[in-house]
Amino acid sequence: MRYLDVNLRVASAVAAAIVVLISTSAHAVESTCFGAPSNGRLQNGVKLPLNGPNFSSYSPLASELGRTYVHSKVLEVIVAAYTALEQSAPGRVFVYGETGWASGGRIRPHRQHQNGLSVDFFVPVRDRTGRSVPLPTSAANRFGYDIEFDKDGRFEDYTIDFESLAEHLYQLQLAAKARGVGIALVILDPPYLPKLFATARGSFLVQNVKFLKRAAWVRHDEHYHVNFAVNCVPIEDYHARTSTTTPATVSATPRSTRTPNFSSRRKSAESASVNSG
Ligand SMILES: [Zn+2]
Repeated sequence: MRYLDVNLRVASAVAAAIVVLISTSAHAVESTCFGAPSNGRLQNGVKLPLNGPNFSSYSPLASELGRTYVHSKVLEVIVAAYTALEQSAPGRVFVYGETGWASGGRIRPHRQHQNGLSVDFFVPVRDRTGRSVPLPTSAANRFGYDIEFDKDGRFEDYTIDFESLAEHLYQLQLAAKARGVGIALVILDPPYLPKLFATARGSFLVQNVKFLKRAAWVRHDEHYHVNFAVNCVPIEDYHARTSTTTPATVSATPRSTRTPNFSSRRKSAESASVNSG
């Protein structure tokens, strides 16, 4: 009995050590972003979890292919927002879309998504019975991106749940602010903006979140694109480092000033969004 007790204690200590190791390593990865969403790179990118209690990836295959990496701060914000939504929007489910490569750079067909700060989220929808369901994303509809909603936010049996969409953006903004980062820009089809601003979180969003007011050339009806605002190293530094050092010896410490140049980044995000999203 005593022997068993000791064994159990050893086993639980080992288990606790493993948990500490896993959680430490999960938090140890700190990403570095370079440049802007439309011309950037990422170091130590982290992969979004495939799913959680109230969210899922648009495509396990695409995730497997490495298309859902983000900056570590962005991952923290996204997961924290989903966790908050379990309380503030119980029963509602969410689907995220494309983000970017582990090391950033161009990811076709997107023009942005290059430095770990751009994330596409598919619109939360309700089915004919009013139930919150994941938007059906598969290879048949180009993983959701070929879905076309009408001007009232309807597609087949699905209706865009603007209340949940607004609550999601609200929770993203809170989670970002709590971690010392922000949301630089949200792109959603402009005709939908009045519907979004008419929700319970509408006035908060008007006051605290920047939306692209004109149409991007890709219609953002089935997904909304979010650029997060995180301090990045200038892209020139990335090229300078990669031309003189091997990636393994590159320092992860940003050389640039601590003051983010959001104005120029916002401008480039906007001008690029005219060509993409
Ligand atoms: Zn996008």
